[in-house]
Amino acid sequence: MNKLFIASSNPHKLEEIRDILLNNGIDLELVCPKDFGCEEEPVEDGLSFEENAYIKARFYHDLYHLPTIADDSGICIDYLGGKPGIHSARFLPEMDYPHKCAYIVDIMKDVSERSARFVDCLCFIDGKGSVHYYQGVNEGTIAYEPAGDKGFGYDPIFVIPEYGKTEAELGEEYKNVYSHRAKALKEWIIDAKEKFQ
Ligand code: IMP
Repeated sequence: MNKLFIASSNPHKLEEIRDILLNNGIDLELVCPKDFGCEEEPVEDGLSFEENAYIKARFYHDLYHLPTIADDSGICIDYLGGKPGIHSARFLPEMDYPHKCAYIVDIMKDVSERSARFVDCLCFIDGKGSVHYYQGVNEGTIAYEPAGDKGFGYDPIFVIPEYGKTEAELGEEYKNVYSHRAKALKEWIIDAKEKFQ
Protein backbone atom coordinates (compact mmCIF):
# COMPACT_ATOMS: atom_id res chain seq x y z
CA MET A 1 0.00 0.00 0.00
CA ASN A 2 1.50 3.35 -0.95
CA LYS A 3 -1.63 5.46 -1.32
CA LEU A 4 -4.23 5.90 1.41
CA PHE A 5 -7.57 7.62 0.88
CA ILE A 6 -8.71 9.68 3.86
CA ALA A 7 -12.48 9.95 3.69
CA SER A 8 -12.82 13.43 5.13
CA SER A 9 -13.20 16.97 3.89
CA ASN A 10 -12.55 18.45 7.33
CA PRO A 11 -9.16 20.23 6.99
CA HIS A 12 -8.49 20.05 10.75
CA LYS A 13 -9.05 16.30 10.85
CA LEU A 14 -6.94 15.82 7.72
CA GLU A 15 -4.06 17.77 9.22
CA GLU A 16 -4.24 15.80 12.49
CA ILE A 17 -4.36 12.47 10.67
CA ARG A 18 -1.42 13.46 8.45
CA ASP A 19 0.68 14.55 11.47
CA ILE A 20 -0.18 11.49 13.57
CA LEU A 21 0.70 9.09 10.75
CA LEU A 22 3.98 10.88 10.03
CA ASN A 23 4.91 11.01 13.74
CA ASN A 24 4.43 7.25 13.83
CA GLY A 25 6.57 6.50 10.82
CA ILE A 26 3.78 6.04 8.27
CA ASP A 27 4.86 7.87 5.16
CA LEU A 28 2.09 7.17 2.66
CA GLU A 29 0.69 9.38 -0.05
CA LEU A 30 -2.53 10.59 1.53
CA VAL A 31 -5.36 11.59 -0.76
CA CYS A 32 -8.75 13.00 0.12
CA PRO A 33 -12.02 13.83 -1.69
CA LYS A 34 -10.74 17.31 -2.60
CA ASP A 35 -7.78 15.83 -4.50
CA PHE A 36 -10.28 14.15 -6.85
CA GLY A 37 -12.45 17.27 -7.10
CA CYS A 38 -15.13 15.19 -5.39
CA GLU A 39 -17.99 17.24 -4.00
CA GLU A 40 -20.35 14.33 -3.40
CA GLU A 41 -20.74 13.35 0.24
CA PRO A 42 -22.32 10.27 1.79
CA VAL A 43 -25.42 10.62 3.96
CA GLU A 44 -24.29 9.90 7.51
CA ASP A 45 -27.48 8.30 8.74
CA GLY A 46 -25.95 5.52 10.82
CA LEU A 47 -26.97 4.99 14.43
CA SER A 48 -23.45 4.68 15.84
CA PHE A 49 -19.93 5.98 15.26
CA GLU A 50 -19.07 2.61 13.69
CA GLU A 51 -21.98 2.73 11.26
CA ASN A 52 -21.18 6.28 10.16
CA ALA A 53 -17.47 5.51 9.76
CA TYR A 54 -18.43 2.49 7.61
CA ILE A 55 -20.83 4.57 5.49
CA LYS A 56 -18.04 7.08 4.72
CA ALA A 57 -15.35 4.46 4.09
CA ARG A 58 -17.65 2.38 1.84
CA PHE A 59 -18.79 5.44 -0.15
CA TYR A 60 -15.27 6.57 -1.09
CA HIS A 61 -13.85 3.06 -1.45
CA ASP A 62 -16.56 2.26 -4.00
CA LEU A 63 -15.79 5.48 -5.88
CA TYR A 64 -11.98 5.32 -6.00
CA HIS A 65 -11.06 1.69 -5.15
CA LEU A 66 -8.20 2.74 -2.88
CA PRO A 67 -7.41 1.55 0.65
CA THR A 68 -9.62 3.95 2.60
CA ILE A 69 -9.78 5.22 6.16
CA ALA A 70 -12.84 7.06 7.46
CA ASP A 71 -13.23 8.34 10.96
CA ASP A 72 -16.40 9.27 12.72
CA SER A 73 -15.96 11.13 15.93
CA GLY A 74 -17.72 13.32 18.43
CA ILE A 75 -18.04 14.51 21.98
CA CYS A 76 -20.30 12.67 24.43
CA ILE A 77 -21.35 14.76 27.46
CA ASP A 78 -22.74 12.76 30.38
CA TYR A 79 -24.96 15.60 31.66
CA LEU A 80 -26.59 15.68 28.20
CA GLY A 81 -27.17 11.91 28.23
CA GLY A 82 -24.18 11.31 25.93
CA LYS A 83 -25.17 13.98 23.41
CA PRO A 84 -24.22 15.38 20.98
CA GLY A 85 -22.30 12.12 20.28
CA ILE A 86 -22.72 11.02 16.68
CA HIS A 87 -24.53 14.31 15.98
CA SER A 88 -21.58 16.49 17.10
CA ALA A 89 -21.06 18.05 13.67
CA ARG A 90 -24.79 18.75 13.23
CA PHE A 91 -25.56 19.81 16.82
CA LEU A 92 -27.00 23.37 17.05
CA PRO A 93 -26.65 23.79 13.26
CA GLU A 94 -27.48 27.50 13.34
CA MET A 95 -24.39 28.26 15.44
CA ASP A 96 -20.67 28.33 14.67
CA TYR A 97 -18.31 26.44 17.02
CA PRO A 98 -17.48 29.35 19.35
CA HIS A 99 -21.23 29.83 19.89
CA LYS A 100 -21.89 26.10 20.32
CA CYS A 101 -19.11 25.98 22.95
CA ALA A 102 -20.46 29.08 24.69
CA TYR A 103 -23.98 27.61 24.68
CA ILE A 104 -22.82 24.34 26.28
CA VAL A 105 -20.83 26.00 29.07
CA ASP A 106 -23.76 28.33 29.71
CA ILE A 107 -26.35 25.56 30.12
CA MET A 108 -23.84 23.72 32.36
CA LYS A 109 -22.75 26.69 34.47
CA ASP A 110 -24.32 25.29 37.67
CA VAL A 111 -23.85 21.62 36.87
CA SER A 112 -21.43 19.53 38.91
CA GLU A 113 -21.58 16.44 36.65
CA ARG A 114 -19.02 17.58 34.05
CA SER A 115 -17.59 14.32 32.70
CA ALA A 116 -17.35 13.90 28.94
CA ARG A 117 -15.38 11.96 26.40
CA PHE A 118 -14.27 12.28 22.81
CA VAL A 119 -14.86 9.11 20.83
CA ASP A 120 -13.35 8.22 17.48
CA CYS A 121 -14.19 5.18 15.40
CA LEU A 122 -12.04 4.43 12.37
CA CYS A 123 -13.22 2.19 9.60
CA PHE A 124 -10.52 0.95 7.24
CA ILE A 125 -11.31 -0.86 3.99
CA ASP A 126 -8.09 -2.45 2.82
CA GLY A 127 -6.81 -3.18 -0.68
CA LYS A 128 -8.63 -6.53 -0.70
CA GLY A 129 -11.93 -4.97 0.35
CA SER A 130 -11.86 -6.30 3.95
CA VAL A 131 -13.30 -4.03 6.62
CA HIS A 132 -11.51 -3.28 9.91
CA TYR A 133 -12.52 -1.10 12.87
CA TYR A 134 -10.44 0.76 15.49
CA GLN A 135 -11.61 2.91 18.39
CA GLY A 136 -10.08 5.63 20.52
CA VAL A 137 -11.64 7.29 23.58
CA ASN A 138 -10.30 10.22 25.56
CA GLU A 139 -11.88 11.10 28.91
CA GLY A 140 -12.18 14.67 30.17
CA THR A 141 -14.51 17.24 31.66
CA ILE A 142 -16.45 20.22 30.33
CA ALA A 143 -14.82 23.57 31.10
CA TYR A 144 -16.66 26.42 32.86
CA GLU A 145 -15.45 28.78 30.13
CA PRO A 146 -14.03 28.09 26.63
CA ALA A 147 -10.24 28.49 26.59
CA GLY A 148 -7.47 28.22 24.01
CA ASP A 149 -7.24 28.87 20.31
CA LYS A 150 -5.54 25.73 19.03
CA GLY A 151 -7.46 22.74 17.76
CA PHE A 152 -11.01 22.91 16.43
CA GLY A 153 -14.64 22.10 17.17
CA TYR A 154 -15.24 21.43 20.86
CA ASP A 155 -11.54 21.51 21.84
CA PRO A 156 -11.92 24.86 23.73
CA ILE A 157 -14.38 23.32 26.23
CA PHE A 158 -12.80 19.87 26.65
CA VAL A 159 -10.55 19.85 29.72
CA ILE A 160 -7.88 17.21 30.25
CA PRO A 161 -7.97 16.70 34.04
CA GLU A 162 -4.24 15.77 34.39
CA TYR A 163 -3.28 19.14 32.89
CA GLY A 164 -6.21 21.31 34.03
CA LYS A 165 -6.23 22.72 30.48
CA THR A 166 -8.45 22.36 27.45
CA GLU A 167 -7.35 20.57 24.31
CA ALA A 168 -7.41 23.95 22.57
CA GLU A 169 -4.84 25.21 25.08
CA LEU A 170 -2.71 22.06 24.89
CA GLY A 171 -2.70 21.94 21.08
CA GLU A 172 -1.14 19.49 18.68
CA GLU A 173 1.64 18.32 20.97
CA TYR A 174 -1.03 16.84 23.21
CA LYS A 175 -3.63 15.89 20.62
CA ASN A 176 -1.28 14.12 18.23
CA VAL A 177 -0.32 11.72 21.02
CA TYR A 178 -3.29 11.34 23.37
CA SER A 179 -6.48 12.40 21.58
CA HIS A 180 -9.28 9.97 20.70
CA ARG A 181 -8.13 10.22 17.07
CA ALA A 182 -4.47 9.57 17.91
CA LYS A 183 -5.45 6.53 20.00
CA ALA A 184 -7.59 5.02 17.23
CA LEU A 185 -4.98 5.74 14.56
CA LYS A 186 -2.22 4.16 16.63
CA GLU A 187 -4.27 0.94 16.73
CA TRP A 188 -4.58 1.10 12.95
CA ILE A 189 -0.85 1.80 12.61
CA ILE A 190 0.01 -1.38 14.56
CA ASP A 191 -2.10 -3.40 12.10
CA ALA A 192 -0.84 -1.45 9.09
CA LYS A 193 2.78 -2.20 9.94
CA GLU A 194 2.02 -5.91 10.33
CA LYS A 195 -0.61 -6.61 7.70
CA PHE A 196 -1.24 -3.90 5.16
CA GLN A 197 2.20 -2.84 3.90
P1 IMP B 1 -17.57 13.89 11.81
O1 IMP B 1 -16.88 14.52 10.66
O2 IMP B 1 -18.98 13.47 11.52
O3 IMP B 1 -16.76 12.80 12.45
O4 IMP B 1 -17.73 15.07 12.85
C1 IMP B 1 -17.17 15.05 14.07
C2 IMP B 1 -17.48 16.34 14.81
O5 IMP B 1 -17.18 16.07 16.18
C3 IMP B 1 -16.59 17.49 14.40
O6 IMP B 1 -17.17 18.30 13.43
C4 IMP B 1 -16.44 18.23 15.72
O7 IMP B 1 -17.58 18.98 15.97
C5 IMP B 1 -16.43 17.11 16.73
N1 IMP B 1 -15.05 16.62 16.92
C6 IMP B 1 -14.53 15.44 16.52
N2 IMP B 1 -13.24 15.35 16.84
C7 IMP B 1 -12.93 16.50 17.45
C8 IMP B 1 -11.71 17.00 17.99
O8 IMP B 1 -10.64 16.38 17.95
N3 IMP B 1 -11.79 18.22 18.54
C9 IMP B 1 -12.92 18.94 18.60
N4 IMP B 1 -14.08 18.54 18.10
C10 IMP B 1 -14.08 17.31 17.51
